[in-house]
Amino acid sequence: MIRSSIRLLSFCAVFTYVPMLFAQTEKQDLASLQKSIAQLVPVPIKTELSTLPISEQQALNKLIKAAHLMDTLFLRQVSANNESLQAELTKRIQTAPKGTDAQALAQAQLDYFLINKGPWCRINHNKPFIPNVGDKKKQGNFYPEDATQEEIETWLKTLSEQDKAQAMSFYTVVKRNPKGQLMVVPYATEYATELKEAATLLEQAAALTQNASLQKFLKTRAQAFLSNDYYSSDLAWMELDSDIEPVIGPYEVYEDEWFNAKAAFEAFITVTDQAETKKLVQFSSYLQDIENHLPIDKKYKNPALGKQAPIRVVNVVYNAGDANRGVQTAAYNLPNQERVIQEKGSKRVMLKNIQEAKYNKTLLPIAKIALPESSQKNISFNAFFSAILMHELMHGLGPHHVYQKQTTVRESLKETYSAIEEAKADISGLFALQYLMDKGVIDKTMAPLFYETFLASTFRTVRFGTSEAHGKGMALQLNFLLQDKSITINKQGQFSINYQRIKKAVEKLTQILMTIQAQGQYQQAKQMLDTMGHVTPAIQQVLDKLTQVPVDIHPEFIIQ
Ligand code: ZN
Repeated sequence: MIRSSIRLLSFCAVFTYVPMLFAQTEKQDLASLQKSIAQLVPVPIKTELSTLPISEQQALNKLIKAAHLMDTLFLRQVSANNESLQAELTKRIQTAPKGTDAQALAQAQLDYFLINKGPWCRINHNKPFIPNVGDKKKQGNFYPEDATQEEIETWLKTLSEQDKAQAMSFYTVVKRNPKGQLMVVPYATEYATELKEAATLLEQAAALTQNASLQKFLKTRAQAFLSNDYYSSDLAWMELDSDIEPVIGPYEVYEDEWFNAKAAFEAFITVTDQAETKKLVQFSSYLQDIENHLPIDKKYKNPALGKQAPIRVVNVVYNAGDANRGVQTAAYNLPNQERVIQEKGSKRVMLKNIQEAKYNKTLLPIAKIALPESSQKNISFNAFFSAILMHELMHGLGPHHVYQKQTTVRESLKETYSAIEEAKADISGLFALQYLMDKGVIDKTMAPLFYETFLASTFRTVRFGTSEAHGKGMALQLNFLLQDKSITINKQGQFSINYQRIKKAVEKLTQILMTIQAQGQYQQAKQMLDTMGHVTPAIQQVLDKLTQVPVDIHPEFIIQ
C-alpha cells in the first residue's frame, strides 16, 4: 500500500428529505453537516519561502497555478456531474435570501463538497451529503457511466496484449464511440485543454528556476502532459535535487475502484525542510551500526546493508486534486510505474507541516485524555517526527529474507506480513532511538519524550481501526507492553510508561518480531495478531472518550 489508508467512524450526516418539514429539515441538515465538517478541523498551512531565491519563488507561483488545474481535472475524474454540481451550489448561495438557513446550508454543502472533492463523505464510506446525487460510482468517471465491470472485463478479453495494456494504462480513459463500442482515449486527448495550460505553466516555471534537476523534471513533465508518455519525467523526478520538490500529474489509482488502473490527477507543491533533512542524514549514517546491534541472533543480521531508498522531508506550500481530499496524506511513496521503480527505485516523501498540523489537532487532544497530567509536558512534536523518520528507516533494516531459504519474509508471512512489518518498524524505531541515546548521539533527556509521545500516538493509530495494518500492528504493540506491565493503567483509565521495564520490553518485542520474520514463522505471526492485534476493553475505554477529537485536518493553504 502506498498511502496509509483510514477507515473511519460514522460522522457524516445522511440526507433524507421530507418536503412537508422542509425548513425544519434544513436546519437539522445544516447542524448535521456542520458536525461533519468539524471532524476535519481547518488548519492554516504556511511555509516560509522568503529564504528561497527570487527565481525559485517565481517558479513556485507558476507551479501553484498549474496545481489549480489538477483540482479541476480531479473533480472531473471523480464524477462526470461534479463540475455542474459545483456550479449549481455556487448559484444557490448567490440566489438564496441572505442570512437564511437555506443560504448557510448551500455554503456548508459547497465547503464540504470541496473538502471531499464531490458530494460523498470520504470519512464515512462515501455516504452522500447532498440530496439526490445518488451513490458514488466505483468506476469514477474513467469508464462509461452506463458500462458494467463485467462488460469491461469481457471487452478486455477480446483485445490484443498491446491494446489491453493501453486499455488498462494509468493514463487512458475508456469511453464509447458514436456506435456505442468501447474505446480507449489517452489523458492527453481527454483532458487536452487543462493539460496544455498546465504544460505551458510548467515550461514557464522551468524557465524561471535556476536548479537544473528541477528544470529537467518540469520540462519532461510538460512534454508528458502533451505526449501521454510519463516515463522520462518519472525518471527525472527520482533525480530531483532541489529546494522545490513538486509532484504534479496523474499518480494514484484508488479512485478507480473497479480495476485500480486509472491514475488520478494531483499536486503536492512542496519545499525541502533543511533541518529535518540534516537529522535524516545523521540517523541514516548510523543504520549499519544499529543493524549490528539489533537484539536478534547474529546470523539474522545483515553485515552489509545495501543502498537504502531515498527519503525527503518537505513542507507543503499547496496541495491539489487527489492530494487534497478527505483525510490528508502525511507521506507518499512514488512513482508508481513499475518500469521506473525497477530502474530507479522509488522515493519516500514526508510532509512535515501536515504531520505537525495533525499532531496539534489530533495527537495533543488525545494525549490530554489518554495520559495523566504529569505526562503532558513530555508530549513533543520533535519526538513524534523523529519516531516517524526512524520508523521509515527501520523498514530497511532487519530480516527481509527467510534465513537459509529462498523465500522473502513477505511471501512467508502472507496476510500477516503488513501488520507485523509495521509493528516492527515502530518498536524497533524506539529501540534505535534508545540505542542512539545510549551512544550519546541523541540527548538522553529525550527519553521520556520519545516513550510518552509514542504512547499517546498508539491511540491515534489504533483509532483508525485494526482492520488496517498500521492499526493492527499498533494494537499488538500496546497489548504486548500492557501484558509486560511496561505500560500501566491508573484508576482513571489513563496510561503511563513504567521506566523500570520499558527499555527491556522494547528490546524483547523487537527480538520476537524480527525472529518471526527471519524464520518466516507464519503460525506464530498469526497467533500473535489473533491474540494481541485488536482493541481490548482497556484500550476501548480510552477510544470511547475520544469522540470529540477531530478525525483529521483540513488544510487552508496560506500563500505569501
Ligand atoms: Zn511503515
